[in-house]
Amino acid sequence: MATEAHLKTVDIIYRYEARDSSARPLPVDSDAALRRLNAGNGDFAALLDHVKNESGIQQIIPVDPRDLGLDSNVAGTPKHRPFAAVLGCSDARVPIELIFNEGPNDLFVVRVAGNGLGVDVLGSLKYAVDHLGGTLKLIVVLGHSGCGALTTAVDVFLNPGDYLTIAAKHPLRNILDRSLIVVQASASRLLSAFGPGVTHNPGYRQALIEASIVTNAALSAYSLQQEFIAHDLPGLQTVYGVYVLETREVWAPRSGGIKENGLASPPRDLAGFAAFSDAVVRSGRIASYLN
Ligand SMILES: [Zn+2]
Repeated sequence: MATEAHLKTVDIIYRYEARDSSARPLPVDSDAALRRLNAGNGDFAALLDHVKNESGIQQIIPVDPRDLGLDSNVAGTPKHRPFAAVLGCSDARVPIELIFNEGPNDLFVVRVAGNGLGVDVLGSLKYAVDHLGGTLKLIVVLGHSGCGALTTAVDVFLNPGDYLTIAAKHPLRNILDRSLIVVQASASRLLSAFGPGVTHNPGYRQALIEASIVTNAALSAYSLQQEFIAHDLPGLQTVYGVYVLETREVWAPRSGGIKENGLASPPRDLAGFAAFSDAVVRSGRIASYLN
């Protein structure tokens, strides 16, 4: 019997069916868009869990043939109609469409190292907000565990002498300078939550890296909310999360110890940020590094 783990298979299939052009209707509002992405990630994350128990498993992602110009009734270029814009990291372990179970023409994706808000990133997202308003319902900022950009910033924060090596490389310095503020804020939050002894904890560096990664994503989502949405586009929603490489799930800490899987809304004001920071340092994930 093919029961050994190495004989099991996972198939992820993009399925086009010519007769069914409405396989997956676009989400009608931002809540529906959020539910779809969270459900898609949940299905993706579960794939390898299932394969432990079953001999093989398929994940089928229905794709609208019109999105690849396969509809013989419609001539010309497929209409650009993503329902979410996602700012993610360039890290190759975080393929955005795949981890949300989405296909062509579903997501408007911007990827840069550290998923920070540089000029070109803001310009790309501004384009999406201005030109894709007919279908765009959601803006997502997605960090990921073990992000190299935030890890470098944490190491420079812990050993400031290393800054000079990086400061001489102008393109890297831009990313680093933006991240250092987030690292500093995360460090002071860990200090006030756990006391000065926390810096001697063997897991302190890792806890600071992961706290900085989620804070970076939430802060970027907050900034985008202020930049694009608060004023003129009430139908859009901005959310953030961290893709955890080890579990393949998106994580975002919530106040009150409720479940932490799935994308979440960023803080809306100073009090919101205080509650957010508290939820980060009290979360099971961050605590697990300090135990
Ligand atoms: Zn990264």
